[in-house]
Amino acid sequence: MSQTKQSSLLDATVVSTNRLASLADRVDTTDERPELDVRTPIKDEPIGAVPAATAEDVAAAVDRARVAQSEWENRSIEDRGDVLRRFGDLVLERREWLLDIVQLETGKARVDALEEILDVPLTCSYYGSNGPSILAESKRTGAVPGLIDAHVTTDPVGVAGVISPWNYPLTLAITDVIPALLAGNAVVCKPDERTPYVALALAELFEEAGLPSGVFEVVTGDGPTVGPALIDRVDHVTFTGGTETGRAVAERTGRNLIGSSLELGGKNPMLVLGDADVETAARGAVEGAFTNAGQLCLAPEGIYVVDSRYEDFLDAFVDATRRLSLGLEFGYRPDVGSLIDSDHLERVQSYVEDARADGASVCAGGRSRPDVGPFCYEPTILTDVDPDSAIATEETFGPVVSVEPVSDAEEAIERANSSSYGLNASVWTTDLARGRSVAREIDCGTVCVNDPYAVGWAAVDAPMGGFGDSGVGRRHGPEGLRRYVEVRTIATSKIGPLGDSPHLPTKWYARAMTAVTRLQRRLVGWF
Ligand code: NDP
Repeated sequence: MSQTKQSSLLDATVVSTNRLASLADRVDTTDERPELDVRTPIKDEPIGAVPAATAEDVAAAVDRARVAQSEWENRSIEDRGDVLRRFGDLVLERREWLLDIVQLETGKARVDALEEILDVPLTCSYYGSNGPSILAESKRTGAVPGLIDAHVTTDPVGVAGVISPWNYPLTLAITDVIPALLAGNAVVCKPDERTPYVALALAELFEEAGLPSGVFEVVTGDGPTVGPALIDRVDHVTFTGGTETGRAVAERTGRNLIGSSLELGGKNPMLVLGDADVETAARGAVEGAFTNAGQLCLAPEGIYVVDSRYEDFLDAFVDATRRLSLGLEFGYRPDVGSLIDSDHLERVQSYVEDARADGASVCAGGRSRPDVGPFCYEPTILTDVDPDSAIATEETFGPVVSVEPVSDAEEAIERANSSSYGLNASVWTTDLARGRSVAREIDCGTVCVNDPYAVGWAAVDAPMGGFGDSGVGRRHGPEGLRRYVEVRTIATSKIGPLGDSPHLPTKWYARAMTAVTRLQRRLVGWF
């Protein structure tokens, strides 16, 4: 494995070039492979390189996972839960090391990286404690209660492929892996090529937690090569990323007749109702729109404020946004960090410039900040945005949000539901019952009342996912575990075959079955 000269940046962290190289060595490739440089957005300089895996390497990783899976599935679910809980403890214990790696790879603020860490032990404990009852064999109502019974059992699907993005490289690489492993599957993870090290660090911690070798494999490389090769060999695919890539993944899993869950983009609305506390709503808007420099699939990108609160809300939001600090350091001081790379910076800039050309006003931000970091962009608030423009309809995935007045809650709901996406929304009101009732009208997989996204995500017991262009399937909760099992119905008859009997004339058989069906209809729900 080639090593990059120690970057001066690495002197500020507990991560060394050699340590990154030792993580890259975990990727098991059959031959000497070409490598992909990994660059840090903090300085736009290389920090190391990882193997560019081929389809052959992917096949070898899936084969190793398949062998390891057959032993792992034979361990009790409680044993598997213990390994996952130990892993969760290790993630917390080694957080400073992991935080440094996440910051190096993404340039995000440390507080945003911490959010990723805290999520892992919670998810491990949730599935470790609740998994056994969610997957336990269950008794169902048989065709003729008392005479024919039905039981449902679950088995792991086998090897799951997890394809994860760069924006939350720790959480999104691992949050879907935990239930897959608990259910008795092996996992092959393909992290984004820009952020491979944190997934490799997690593989090391899994090993230390006692996960048998081969049960969690990481293959690094570029998406169009590794992704399809993985999808063609595994038994389920969990994908988080852009909607267009998600469609390609869905086409391929469809052709292979395997299950998939896809968490894609969002154009998340925030609705500020007439009775909202504007200071609280403004604080929530700052938290939601600018966390992780807006590179969050759940972040609000359009805020609809009832006329009577519009000016007060906008003043409070602009004021709080201008107080945010933009910076790049391995400490908790800056509020907002960098965008991932130059392409993404250009995309965000062009959305804002096009919006300006179409008549939008910039109330805060609106500039890149190369003086702070090569890909830094100021938290930006726009008003007077053309509702048909790209910035109003397409996911920006940056620190940019538009604010628009609406006449009432009904218009806010209508604007919220005008998007083809449906991932996350929030409703702001002092009347919680009204907030929940408005939430029921919004076509999104999660709707948070008086919080931009965190209360929905942190409710690990509740499913998360998208309507429409935001995806298919759900992570978290029982739904997030059940996607990783095959269910089998075992129906047992105490009276032999249910069909026509040779000892009974067909006429009598028909009468008997009609009577049984009538009785059954009356008894539905009793058993
Ligand atoms: P992608 O959808 O391209 O990347 C997500 C993951 O998919 C990466 O690991 C990528 O690998 C992999 N991938 C790429 N091509 C394929 C393929 N043909 N088959 C299987 N896997 C593949 O997202 P981008 O990084 O390009 O971001 C584009 C936009 O998507 C963002 O600007 C944002 O709008 C949205 N997005 C949404 C996310 C969310 O959390 N819902 C997360 C990230 C992006 P590699 O990059 O190594 O090639």
